[in-house]
Amino acid sequence: MFITRFAPSPTGPLHLGHAFSAMLGHDMARAANGTFLLRIDDLDQSRSRTEWEAQIYDDLTWLGLSWPVPVLHQSTRLPRYQSVLKFLWDQGLLYPCSCSRSDIRAAASAPQEGAPLHGPDGVIYPGTCRPRTPPTGPMPRDTALRLDIARACKSLATPLTYNEKGEIITPQNLPATVGDVVLARRNMGASYHLSVVIDDADQQITHVIRGQDLQEATQIHVLLQRLLGLHTPAYHHHRLIRDDHGKRLAKRDDARAIATYRAEAASPQDIRKLVGL
Ligand code: GLU
Repeated sequence: MFITRFAPSPTGPLHLGHAFSAMLGHDMARAANGTFLLRIDDLDQSRSRTEWEAQIYDDLTWLGLSWPVPVLHQSTRLPRYQSVLKFLWDQGLLYPCSCSRSDIRAAASAPQEGAPLHGPDGVIYPGTCRPRTPPTGPMPRDTALRLDIARACKSLATPLTYNEKGEIITPQNLPATVGDVVLARRNMGASYHLSVVIDDADQQITHVIRGQDLQEATQIHVLLQRLLGLHTPAYHHHRLIRDDHGKRLAKRDDARAIATYRAEAASPQDIRKLVGL
């Protein structure tokens, strides 16, 4: 069985990096006689736009990709994410956090802390809001919830492994290398880490094909799968498409937008060549 997915956020135009990721996943699914799913990562409703979503369908179709419909929208899944958060809350693994980004930067760069450490989500959370004992009572709403990663790792009976190169993640290292990640965002219900793990499981994704920029985050995803008793898919982190200065492409790189190439009369075959497929 081979089921993979491409999960763009409709917050800007797709660029060459997206084209590479989507075409690679589509090619691999086709070679394995499997399924390629498209999923719309529109959790951040303040930045998601239906125009961008329409452009995603249009660009991917132009590239020659197809997928089963209807596609899953993460914005329709909030009750599901809430029930998983409630499960983790009841295990004493979450706590509310009211720190802003600048609070975190300030606390992490306090003189006694040394140079701030960085993890998959940026500066590692210095633990300002982390309680000594797990909070009790009903799970609070409309607040960010963080995973107490040390407590979560302690609750695991056996080592964490994930199967890209048979790598073993040592849970004792995660508090220092990853930190207490956010699983519920204040105005979004869930964070990317939580939603991606639940959706991959619910859609029975067997192979996650995505960029190397997410390789570090995969440790968080494997940990969540273990905490939630979910199967860990195979992960393939592909090389990143970079601009002429070696920088990873971002949404704002309009020059590399698929739409720009289309407007200049490039063909899907040209795009394949450009990304080295
Ligand atoms: N929406 C996420 C992104 O575009 C998906 C990442 C993933 O494939 O897990 O970065």
